[in-house]
Amino acid sequence: MLTVDNLLKHYAGAERNVFDGISFDVPKGKVLVIIGPSGSGKSTLLRCVAGLEPIQGGTIALNGQVIDRGEPGNEKSGRAKRSSQLRTKIGMVFQSYDLFPNRTVLGNITMAPVMVQKRPKPDVEREAMELLKRVGLADRAQAKPHELSGGQRQRVAICRALIEHPELMLMDEVTAALDPEMVHEVLDVVLELADAGQTMLIVTHEMQFARAIADKVIMIDSGGIVETSDDPEAFFAHPTTQRAQEFLRTFE
Ligand code: ATP
Ligand code: MG
Repeated sequence: MLTVDNLLKHYAGAERNVFDGISFDVPKGKVLVIIGPSGSGKSTLLRCVAGLEPIQGGTIALNGQVIDRGEPGNEKSGRAKRSSQLRTKIGMVFQSYDLFPNRTVLGNITMAPVMVQKRPKPDVEREAMELLKRVGLADRAQAKPHELSGGQRQRVAICRALIEHPELMLMDEVTAALDPEMVHEVLDVVLELADAGQTMLIVTHEMQFARAIADKVIMIDSGGIVETSDDPEAFFAHPTTQRAQEFLRTFE
């Protein structure tokens, strides 16, 4: 369903391209995990797919429809020109949960569907409550973000993305800002989403989690794909490239 073809990304003023033309796809209902060292471009890749960064070459297609086409020289940052209907098809959860501090948990989740998508408020609130129940937070609907733990906030951020029914969910190190004891409560929610068939593109430093959730793994570095595998068990047990072996060793 997501097809990235020959993607080239360059930031204005940078010496090198972040990506020199990388290609991969994420089939419907599958989970692709992207790993790679700090600075290799994992967040950039998700931001390009989300339409938050212009691309300078290649194409990004969703269900066969090209949603972004590279324009050489166009490095002005800002959202790609995508319709709001198209934007809701791709949801994203970031490392730092950027919830609106003055709104309740429920308000944070219902805001976009009610105000942007103009869905009926009672329906949206009912669905938001179902989502909160699913992530174990039904009793915190009226709390403000500052009254929640980091793990709880991140679960709210996941609900906020899910209520837009994204066909593709992007997750960028969703547990990186959390205290260790809160990591599993968020990862469990993401694992349940995968079991429910949510198509996802996940960036993570949690290698056990990556191994458990991935249908497919890609390691990126130095502008390109180092290694790609449709067999995560085999990849994590015996990566074939020296670069991947070295990288995975740093997590032992
Ligand atoms: P980390 O694991 O530390 O989160 P990452 O793999 O997500 O790293 P990116 O944040 O995508 O890496 O950065 C990739 C490269 O692009 C880095 O060299 C970074 O310095 C550069 N970069 C990222 N954002 C910008 C920006 N807005 N302007 C210019 N350069 C940027
Ligand atoms: Mg990053």
